Amino acid sequence: MLVSGDRFLADLDALGRIGWVEGEGMRRPAYSPSYDEARRFVAAKMKEAGLTVRTDGVGNLFGRLEGSDPSLPTIMSGSHLDAVPGGGKYDGPLGVMAALEAARSIKERKLPLRHPFEAVGFTAEEGGEMGGTFGSRAMAGLLDEPLPEEKLASVGLTPEMVRSSKRDPSRIACYIELHIEQGPFLERRGISIGIPTGIVGIGRYAVRLTGEANHAGTTPMKERRDAMREAAELLSEWFAWTDARDDMVCNVGVFSIHPGAAAVVPDRAEFTLEIRSLKDSVMEEAASAFRRLLEKRTRVAVSMEPLIWKGAVELSPLLQEAAEKACGEMGVSCVRMPSGASHDAAPMAGIVPAGMLFVPSAGGISHAKEEATPPDDLVRGAEALLRTVLEADARL
Ligand SMILES: [Zn+2]
Repeated sequence: MLVSGDRFLADLDALGRIGWVEGEGMRRPAYSPSYDEARRFVAAKMKEAGLTVRTDGVGNLFGRLEGSDPSLPTIMSGSHLDAVPGGGKYDGPLGVMAALEAARSIKERKLPLRHPFEAVGFTAEEGGEMGGTFGSRAMAGLLDEPLPEEKLASVGLTPEMVRSSKRDPSRIACYIELHIEQGPFLERRGISIGIPTGIVGIGRYAVRLTGEANHAGTTPMKERRDAMREAAELLSEWFAWTDARDDMVCNVGVFSIHPGAAAVVPDRAEFTLEIRSLKDSVMEEAASAFRRLLEKRTRVAVSMEPLIWKGAVELSPLLQEAAEKACGEMGVSCVRMPSGASHDAAPMAGIVPAGMLFVPSAGGISHAKEEATPPDDLVRGAEALLRTVLEADARL
């Protein structure tokens, strides 16, 4: 092992206590006091390791180690320090602390490194006022102008602070992120490391079916224009269609009916439809298939409005090979797989080659306080990250 497993686990554990509420899980949203405390903790560890520490305009944290060739662009590695409400200790912090451990190990062991290396803790990956992956999108310069001044002010930011956070992509060689899988794929197969080939895209739609409210006792069944029933029939047809596909997933996570009274036939059903796939074309195909099923409903008026469209992201083949080589050196099993969740690597892939490594999630559970990864898997992940960084340093 090149990394110090015990030190890495102890630091990760200490970071996991900041904002932790017993019985509830993590309470560490971006721009909160517990978040600031977590960032100060990591900054202090970075300083202790002899890294040059800096925070940008939006609050992303960087710890920099110089390489032997100052003319080369930076290899970046990290993840985010904020958490979803009631989340776990590993979603985000694992990648930040593993990047810090990589920097420490390179420095201590005097491992050859040509490029500068930066460990990064991004802010506000988990969404909130400015939407997900806010910190990394700000750094990548991918936030749309005009910037929402009021929303920014609510967390103490100005458009100028956001703009000043943009980094020159030509000075970044690549970005590599270690993250928990947040799904059951690796654990079920007994594989140590997952190497994502891409990050699935997300399409989200607001769907509405409008019928007619009426008395639930006196209106004959055949004469009803029941928005609830129409939606139920539509969704059962839709899920039968999706069950036959292995290249996409979908979710209806918000559903409401109007007026919402036991004795009234509902006149309106509204829900969100979310579709995810590694291929934009599959998302488009699924959305049109849904629209066809929707427009078949004759007893109600229907509408389907797009809310969000984030295209699928391809991750760097070179970094996938580097990760595979790292796992080979360590003698641990690995597999290429898609990432079903979005990560800071997604915006980063928009400006530089980006790669990821996954470690197993116990029971496939994440975004919950029960989120866990066995210590051996965490250390294997950190070691694989360091070796991938070194391999990328040699290849890029
Ligand atoms: Zn995450």
